[in-house]
Amino acid sequence: MDTKATKDLQYWKNYASSLKIDARAFIDGKSVEAADGATFDCVSPIDGKVIAKVTQSGETEINLAVAAARRSFEQGVWAGLNPRKRKSAMQRWASLLREHADELSALETIDAGKPIGDTTSVDIPGAIYCVEWFAEAIDKVGGEVAPVDHHLVGLVTREPIGVVAAVVPWNFPLLMASWKFAPALAAGNSVVLKPSEKSPLTAIRVAQLAFEAGIPAGVFNVVPGFGSAGKLLALHMDVDCIAFTGSTAVGKQIMQCAGQSNLKRTWLELGGKSPNIILPDCPDLDRAASSAASAIFYNMGEMCTAGSRLLVHRDIKDAFIEKLLVAAKSYTPGHPLDPSTSMGAIVDTIQLERVQSYIEAGRAEASLLTGGNRTLQDTGGYYIEPTVFDVSNPAARIAREEIFGPVLSVLTFDSVDDAVRIANDSEYGLAAAVWTSNLTTAHEVSRRLRAGTIWVNCYDEGGDMNFPFGGYKQSGNGRDKSLHALEKYTELKSTLVRLR
Ligand code: NAD
Repeated sequence: MDTKATKDLQYWKNYASSLKIDARAFIDGKSVEAADGATFDCVSPIDGKVIAKVTQSGETEINLAVAAARRSFEQGVWAGLNPRKRKSAMQRWASLLREHADELSALETIDAGKPIGDTTSVDIPGAIYCVEWFAEAIDKVGGEVAPVDHHLVGLVTREPIGVVAAVVPWNFPLLMASWKFAPALAAGNSVVLKPSEKSPLTAIRVAQLAFEAGIPAGVFNVVPGFGSAGKLLALHMDVDCIAFTGSTAVGKQIMQCAGQSNLKRTWLELGGKSPNIILPDCPDLDRAASSAASAIFYNMGEMCTAGSRLLVHRDIKDAFIEKLLVAAKSYTPGHPLDPSTSMGAIVDTIQLERVQSYIEAGRAEASLLTGGNRTLQDTGGYYIEPTVFDVSNPAARIAREEIFGPVLSVLTFDSVDDAVRIANDSEYGLAAAVWTSNLTTAHEVSRRLRAGTIWVNCYDEGGDMNFPFGGYKQSGNGRDKSLHALEKYTELKSTLVRLR
């Protein structure tokens, strides 16, 4: 029986324990172990238990994967395919992914600690939709004919770059990966994907299914491993482009590696410390409060766009905080495989300790309003209560640095200018929100905020593929999603033909 009603905690526990996990690298159409046999433990944050031994890719595997990608690219088995056929292959792949959606959701949940309600409704359907969306674009997007002198024909075409390496984080393991590999493959490139060592399982499975769907050997390779494997890709002389999502610190290293090697095209989607501004004429304080809670507690706060700085006007601060603390209560940590759980586990002990150390810093520099504790320790897993601090000094560490956990800093302001100044006073510029009933204020503040995405009277909405996503300042460069993403994975070519 496989009806929605029966998919309770016990169902998902049984389902997850029945999975046969093949955590080998996927290179050139085959599942392979490391040449030296190296593996690393994949530990579930749900209970701290090892769920798989994962191939630890080293230099040999990286070289094999890049060589397979290069060979497949040069042979034109993918890049040279009729666009309609490339589209059909990606559509078959998307259908196969949909058939395996429960398996992928369960893998994502046990690997990264994300609530099953989210992996089944957001992560996995979102990644599949991304594959479908870019598949659809393959035979819709063409080049241009330039207005040149009458004796010439000027063609402006886009060509795949070649071998694209994608290095991705663990907070939305498959979704973030799909934002890279789907447009890169749609554009005709061959791809080598390195998932995070903290969440490698869905990427591996998805590569197996790509091959099964008819995407030729060597076109999509997955090399699980640590940062050192990502660095090998960033330094590789035969990688033409690296698309990275992760921390700003590692993004800077990736850029340096590109400079030290072959100046590969480098695209960076990095960290954030996004401001969520509540003006006194906010149209609906209740909705703004529940949205502010979701902006920081959804996905355990492990969100690049987390609304981690809540800027509230002094006149409404007390009333707003009261509502916020009520909304925060709906994010009680629970078993990630329970469909009623809204807050799962922190991905691993390293991240747990990082979040705890920020909470300790917060206790010294701000007033704790709720939370602040590790919880459910008897499970063996890594859970933290939703935590809110009232921060009087915007220069406090918890109000400036990206924590990547369920920790909110509430800051107070007295005027719109004040709010914009505090909001923009950050090395990051990924996203921002403003709540106001005044249309003019909404547009003026949106223009003044230095961030790649601005929400007005909402937060984290519009998760469709039509909007470009990426950051200003040290939140990165380039944009994922939308047709603009194809620009990252193509070279622009101008061809001039003299007629006479
Ligand atoms: P991270 O930078 O530690 O790791 C990201 C990836 O890079 C992992 O696969 C890791 O193994 C690899 N890596 C580590 N060191 C490397 C090196 N020296 N060279 C090459 N690769 C290396 O980030 P994380 O902890 O996995 O993810 C959290 C970060 O990701 C946060 O800063 C978050 O804001 C950011 N993020 C950004 C976006 C966005 O779209 N802007 C989306 C999700 C997450």
